Amino acid sequence: MSDQACAHLKAVAAVKHAARRECEECVKIDAHWVHLRTCQTCGVTLCCDSSPNRHASKHAHLSGHPVIASAQLGERWLYCYPDDAFAEY
Ligand SMILES: [Zn+2]
Ligand SMILES: [Zn+2]
Ligand SMILES: [Zn+2]
Repeated sequence: MSDQACAHLKAVAAVKHAARRECEECVKIDAHWVHLRTCQTCGVTLCCDSSPNRHASKHAHLSGHPVIASAQLGERWLYCYPDDAFAEY
């Protein structure tokens, strides 16, 4: 974790990974997504801001859960919404 990481990113002791490779909300409404992100507070996996429905951002703002991890294979990074901060792990 880099020195620039905010308190939210530093608080992530063990990264939560996606249980399933799908956006839980898009599946309900039969929508498609581009990339997947996993909430580090509750573990829900939702779609990124390049996806039409941006469920991960909506979840972060509605729930107040600050940190997501990329759920894309080969990507190892975390992002904090309130601080607009990235960290690789
Ligand atoms: Zn933060
Ligand atoms: Zn979605
Ligand atoms: Zn959450």
